[in-house]
Amino acid sequence: MALTFETLERILALERDQGYQNRAVIGGLERFAAHWQERVVSEVSDPELATRMSAVLERLKRYPYLQTREERASAVEEMLNILAGHKPERQPEPSPLLRPLVSQPEAVDLDSPITELQGIGQRRAEQLSHLGVRTIRDMLYLFPRRYNDFQAMKPIYKLEYGDVVTVAGTIRDTRSRRGRGGQEIVTSIISDGTGTVQATWFNQPYLARTLRPGRQVVISGKVDEYLGRLTFTSPEWEILTRDLIHTNGIIPVYPLTKGLGARWMRRQMKRVVDYWTGRLPDHLPAEVRERAGLLPLDEAIRQIHFPDSQEMLARARRRLSFDEFFLIQLGVLRQRHLWRVRPSRPLPLNREVLQAFLDNLPFTLTEAQHRVLQEILEDIQRPEPMNRLLQGDVGSGKTVVALAAMLQAVAAGCQAVLMAPTELLAEQHANTISSLLRGLDKLTPSVVLLTGSLPALDKQAAHRAIQEGSADIVIGTHALIQEGVTFRELALAVIDEQHRFGVAQRASLRQKGHNPHLLVMSATPIPRTLALTIYGDLDISTIDQMPPGRKPVTTRWLAPRERERAYQFLRSQVEKGHQAFIICPLVEESEKVEARAAVEEHRRLAEEVFPDLRVGLLHGRMSAEKKEEVMRRFVAGELDVLVSTPVVEVGIDVPNATVMLIEGADRFGLAQLHQFRGRVGRGEAPSYCLLLAESPTLEAEERLRTLERCQDGFALAEKDLEMRGPGEFFGLRQSGLPELKLAKLSDVSLLEMARQEARRLFRVDPDLSQPQHRLLRQQVLRMGWRGEGDLS
Ligand code: ADP
Ligand code: MG
Repeated sequence: MALTFETLERILALERDQGYQNRAVIGGLERFAAHWQERVVSEVSDPELATRMSAVLERLKRYPYLQTREERASAVEEMLNILAGHKPERQPEPSPLLRPLVSQPEAVDLDSPITELQGIGQRRAEQLSHLGVRTIRDMLYLFPRRYNDFQAMKPIYKLEYGDVVTVAGTIRDTRSRRGRGGQEIVTSIISDGTGTVQATWFNQPYLARTLRPGRQVVISGKVDEYLGRLTFTSPEWEILTRDLIHTNGIIPVYPLTKGLGARWMRRQMKRVVDYWTGRLPDHLPAEVRERAGLLPLDEAIRQIHFPDSQEMLARARRRLSFDEFFLIQLGVLRQRHLWRVRPSRPLPLNREVLQAFLDNLPFTLTEAQHRVLQEILEDIQRPEPMNRLLQGDVGSGKTVVALAAMLQAVAAGCQAVLMAPTELLAEQHANTISSLLRGLDKLTPSVVLLTGSLPALDKQAAHRAIQEGSADIVIGTHALIQEGVTFRELALAVIDEQHRFGVAQRASLRQKGHNPHLLVMSATPIPRTLALTIYGDLDISTIDQMPPGRKPVTTRWLAPRERERAYQFLRSQVEKGHQAFIICPLVEESEKVEARAAVEEHRRLAEEVFPDLRVGLLHGRMSAEKKEEVMRRFVAGELDVLVSTPVVEVGIDVPNATVMLIEGADRFGLAQLHQFRGRVGRGEAPSYCLLLAESPTLEAEERLRTLERCQDGFALAEKDLEMRGPGEFFGLRQSGLPELKLAKLSDVSLLEMARQEARRLFRVDPDLSQPQHRLLRQQVLRMGWRGEGDLS
């Protein structure tokens, strides 16, 4: 830092010699100030030094606006004094006339880039961008990861081992030495008149200079013991001032990235929060806030960062969670509204066609299938578009129900479409549907398949058939929502495995027709709170019954030493002519690492364990074509065993597969384990699901035991949500829903309240166009809703 001081002193002296013309540096002293700002904030850790530096920088920035030679002369003298070690007298108050020039309030607002903030330059901005922070507002919404509660203050003589406390005292002695391994160890002795305690830090050599004897400090941390004496190990510390931010209170711990230190972040955040929360208008209408008993926004933001108490922290959380729910609900309501104002084509019930279809099936529908079909048929007879979720466990028979509804569209002279997430699934649907229609003479719809890998000519032909209307039932993948696909008269759109598609994709499929009825299907039953959040007012039908004769999949949780037995069992099934899946453990780091692990596991299995069997491999880093090819070979029976990473959801019907072996089963959520299990048990032969877990936690053990016992996907989904929380809930991430940072889906009462308030507001002002809802409207837009509820 000596360099900075010297440089500054030299420049100021030069400025004096040149007669205060602001010519000492090119571009003026203000340029110089801007240049040094960031370095000072990031490099000067001594708070006193930092205070002095920023006092000088403040004055430098104002310098060009000083009008007279006298003013400038005294400013230079003042700066030189501060640099020489004198305390700055006061913050310079710029005259009201100058203020706009100096701080440019009209130019900088909450949506300005963070580089507008003092001390944040390109380098810091780049680092912060890794945390999703680009604007000042983003910074306010970068919430702490957790908190350290250092509220308890104690005199030193009362400290006990294990206490998490704050002490204040005077540094008696500070020493620095090299420890084993060469790391620098700084040790201070702190005394408060009642006793002394030692504090130790590692690899922070500058502390030896900062924590000089005689200084008053505040230390927060956990009381440790070393050689029989009480110590603090790497505690938080700061020089005693009026505004403590690292110690003595509930201290925020922020998410960090490379290059960003915890203290820097806290200091920066404190400044931003202090200055900007007062300028943060509340988007919630006052009456909503009052009815729900919520903190004002500025107070909530202040308290979520630097809470005064646990109670205030809880209230801040409640307010901000409410916002998340409320904004999502507004978005969802809007989406539904926008799309309901345009009528759909009513599809009158054609009983004859329906009866002929049912009579033609090789089985009779279950009671549950009948019930949900009824619900769907009622919907599509209306001029308002249907928006229904059909949920039912894997194998519960959703396709047949959807097909029955699609036929009603065809009977009315319109088209119906079914979109699936993979080519193979689309092909399988096309085959199943063709065979279910075989022999039906009341109606002979033409079925057209459209996928990305279709040869160009076939694709063109499909496009034409869809456009001319000679294609009655269209089945396909994402290719369906691409440019160039137009329907003549699309009346019903069905989306299979909807969790694999985002809100946006759903929206674009719907735009293909004149506001078609929409049916989305899911094999991952969604608990009510989740459904309300994601889908708002989506209507839900549930098939809660399996077709008769379905045998449960025998599920066993095995210890690692039983792996050999599992392999033997698998082999015996293959010898009977069946096939097996092996799912590799979930690898958190990256898909790349996961793929590498899977390649190795495949090699081991193929070469060492099953050298005589045909073992295939599927992982997320393979191209789409390669994946499809491997799946196709497995379906065709050319592979005995398929090794797969969990990222590849093997969403396919292979009735001949009877064993699902899951490695690292303890790492998966219930819903996902159940999905894997659903890949077997689709044929006549009894099927098995084997769960291997290395060292499951108690919670994981409970999951595995639950899975052994329970075959009901719905119950498992509820249990999963309860045990793991929504963030990890299967499929939620892909839903296209704005992220919930604070809100917990288990907080049903807050969600219900937000829903009620959203509906109430929506009845009054659905477009949020009234002036008092302007801020709210902006906030909804800001949330980044990517669906059709788009306000812009
Ligand atoms: P999912 O709900 O998982 O999509 P599918 O629609 O693929 O289930 O149905 C699974 C299998 O069950 C299919 O082979 C289908 O023909 C058959 N199926 C559907 N409904 C019945 C029923 N009521 N009785 C017997 N088999 C049925
Ligand atoms: Mg299905």
